[in-house]
Order: sequence, then structure tokens, then C-alpha cells
Amino acid sequence: MPQPLASPPALSVVTPMYNEREAVDHFVARLRPVLDGLGLAYEVVAVDDGSRDATVARLLQLRADWPQLRVVSLRRNVGHQAALGAGLRSARGDYVVSIDADLQDPPETIGDMLAAAREQGVDVVYGVRTDRSTDTIFKRRTAGIYYWLMRRLVGPWVSDQAGDFRLMSRAVVDVLNGLPEQRPVYRLVVPSLGFSSAEVAYVRAERVAGETKYPLSKMIRLTLDSVTSFSATPLRIATWLGLLSFFICLALVISGLVAWGFGAVVPGWTSLYVAVLLLGGIQLICLGLLGEYIGRIYAAVQNRPQYLIGMDTADEGTGSVEPI
Ligand code: UDP
Ligand code: MG
Repeated sequence: MPQPLASPPALSVVTPMYNEREAVDHFVARLRPVLDGLGLAYEVVAVDDGSRDATVARLLQLRADWPQLRVVSLRRNVGHQAALGAGLRSARGDYVVSIDADLQDPPETIGDMLAAAREQGVDVVYGVRTDRSTDTIFKRRTAGIYYWLMRRLVGPWVSDQAGDFRLMSRAVVDVLNGLPEQRPVYRLVVPSLGFSSAEVAYVRAERVAGETKYPLSKMIRLTLDSVTSFSATPLRIATWLGLLSFFICLALVISGLVAWGFGAVVPGWTSLYVAVLLLGGIQLICLGLLGEYIGRIYAAVQNRPQYLIGMDTADEGTGSVEPI
């Protein structure tokens, strides 16, 4: 556990990093002057999500010159959202900002977020992307489908332009940290809590260095987590599909009986195998859906830790959050 502090910092900046060796210098060089310029006590919680490159070694070097930089290193790669969760639990600030390490979220916006939170007295300030033209077509299309689906399944309060760049008050972070959920999708959970909120617009920049750490497989996993953690609609769709196939088969049986009554011999097996395939397919879809939910229930029952912290530089002493 991190050392308790005499007085917590006013601001924690949480940033998950996975193989960000190439981006980390740029990130620190731009973040530091912004935070120093705010004139308050802060800490930066860099969560190393089991990186296999030299991210941690570089962070530790940078920390020698910047004591407010804390390094929390997870034992293995657990994914962006779980790493974010580790950061939120480690953060000690009155306000907590979550931000990506690749400078796609401009650090300068943090000042605007803090001002909005203080002036308007709100608990959450969302960073809202006004321009995503620097993202690839593939990224924009897949994000478009994701948010379209979430708005329908989860609710209209999911903004299609708010990702994980946001500021939260201590009250919000405490609620998030107390959730028993195994794999919370923060961008959906936070708006669902209904805290007072404001928005700050920003332009989504290009990744400063390196490549995206979100391959298709991780996107699919995020989508499955998002859908199953918020909605039983897919299960309902499965039921409707099952009913539909049942009635189609019933119609086929009746028409077959009628044809038999008229002495007309069914010439082929077409209707038979169509029905078998249709039913088989629908059953497999439904089983798959059930499996997704049951798998999550199983994980929740096992209640294994989502991640293990290998190192937290805050354990070395309280020097990491000295006011400037
Ligand atoms: N990230 C992480 N663990 C992962 C994948 C990504 O901590 O398994 C971090 C990554 O280092 C970055 C943030 O999550 O700070 C967003 O990832 P990325 O920029 O690669 O995603 P994209 O912007 O392409 O969606
Ligand atoms: Mg990015």
C-alpha cells in the first residue's frame, strides 16, 4: 500500500502505459510544465501495465528529476481499463485526471478541466473530442460502431465523443474504487453514476510516437465487457431469435403436413437442412451469449485480483508529492 500522506495532493494525474518507451519522454516533457504552472500540489501516477520494453526503467530515470512522478508497476499486462483502475486506487489527490500517455489527449486541457470543476462545482469534467481527423479511418469507424451500440444498449447518457480523458472528484473516485465489479468500463460507469458534470472540448491529436496498443482483439474485448456489464439486451435478443426460429420451423412442419396430405412428396432435403442449420446456428449464438455472461459471473465468484502491483515508488517514502 502507498504510504499515507500528511496532506493529500490537490491533483493526481493517472496515466496507464503499455510499451510506451517511445512516447514517455514526449509525454513527461509536455505534462510537467503544465502541472508546474497550476501552482498546486500534485502527483503523477504512471501505471506501467506490464510493459515489455524499457518503459519502467525510463520512468524511474525521469523520476529522479521529478519527484512528483510516481511509478506503479503491474506484474503483467492486464489491459487499459484494469490498469486505469489500479491508477485510480493508487491516486491520492482531491481531483483525479485520467489521461493517455501518447499525447492524443493534450495535457494543457487539464487546467481547463480543473477550472471548470472548481468554478461550476461539478464532480466530473469530461474531455470531449471535437475533432478526430487524426485518428485512422478504421479507428473512427470502429469507435463509431462502438458508441452507437453503447448508446442503444446502455443509455443515451453515453457521449460518443468522451473517452477516458476526464477529471473526477475524490467522491467519484471513491465510489469507483468501491465497486465490486471485476472489469468496469470506466467511460460507461462514470456517466451512469449520475454525478454533476461539465464538458471541456479538445482536439484529438495524433499519437506522438510508437503504435496503438489497442489491436482489434482488445477492442472486441472492451466491447464484450461493455455490453455484458451494462445490458441483458443480448440475452433478450437470443430469446427472440429462438422464438423466431421456432415459429419458422412450425410453419415448415405445417406446410410439410399439408403437402403430405395432398400426396405431394417433398422433392428434396432443402427445407430440412435449412431448418437444421437455422436452429443449430441460433442455438450456438444463444449458447455463446450465455457463455459470455456465465464466464463473467464465474470470474466475479472467483474474485481473483484484477492485477498485482509489483512496485509502487510511493512506498519509498512520502517525497513523491511534495508541493512545488
Ligand atoms: N494501454 C494500457 N494497456 C493496454 C493497452 C493500452 O495501459 O493493454 C494504454 C496505452 O499505453 C495508452 C492508453 O492505454 O496510454 C491508450 O492506448 P492507445 O493510445 O494505444 O489506444 P488508442 O488511442 O489507439 O485507442
Ligand atoms: Mg492513443
